Amino acid sequence: MEPSMNAGCHQSIVTLDDVFFFYENKKVIEHLSFNILERDFVGLIGSNGAGKTTLLKMIVGLLKPSQGQIRLFGQPVSTFRDWERIGYVPQKNAFNPLFPATVREVVLSGLYGKKNMFRRIGKADQQKCEEALYVMRIEDLADRRIGQLSGGQQQRVFLARALINNPELLILDEPTVGIDAETQAGFFRMIRHMHQHHHITFIMVSHDMDMVQSYIGTEPIQKSGSLSFYVKHTHEPENCKETNLTHSMQQLREKIEVLS
Ligand code: ADP
Repeated sequence: MEPSMNAGCHQSIVTLDDVFFFYENKKVIEHLSFNILERDFVGLIGSNGAGKTTLLKMIVGLLKPSQGQIRLFGQPVSTFRDWERIGYVPQKNAFNPLFPATVREVVLSGLYGKKNMFRRIGKADQQKCEEALYVMRIEDLADRRIGQLSGGQQQRVFLARALINNPELLILDEPTVGIDAETQAGFFRMIRHMHQHHHITFIMVSHDMDMVQSYIGTEPIQKSGSLSFYVKHTHEPENCKETNLTHSMQQLREKIEVLS
């Protein structure tokens, strides 16, 4: 959220430059500019209809800004192709519970990106899938239909799907809606661990002010309309030894035991 494109050795991960978004004539976002740096943790809070999901969809290229420019890892989103660098967990209600896919198929679908829907799944892909299932402790659920699972289990499946490419940026849209308080607390512990010990930048929409404030601080760093941005800047590099998830699968898996 700093004005320069590149502060010190920290790479810009998401940059918005005077972005507007309209649904037909309805203005949802205006004059929005910010710069999210490597390993920032951004908590996005706002009332219903504030434009949170719209903003995330623009960042992942599902919606095009009406005006202004968005850059991902320094490249304009319109020409960005490295989607495997980004993991996105959409809102739970975006998912049709009757969708007839197994857990393994849902997790594998995270590999396809936008273009390669029909590419052949090779051995390396299978291996990545098994690792993501393992990390989220859902190997036992691999052949179950996604619609048969509890809310907490589905949440882990979608996180595994978002993690399968070992992303540098994770975008979570209200990840704990409809999940009991204990599972939510475990989920936030896991997210904090990923932020502190792995090389991941986060953007998370949440209605849980307590969680956001306890981790990120009580003052939003920026406001735009009804959107408030809370940001925890980069932690010390010595606390960030892990450069990917698989290097410390066991450690991550131990951390998320609380979810089981
Ligand atoms: P939030 O995620 O903060 O609840 P959204 O980004 O979903 O907000 O929506 C912002 C506003 O845009 C809301 O008023 C919503 O009704 C409207 N909106 C969202 N999607 C559409 C759409 N596809 N067509 C028209 N209006 C929409």
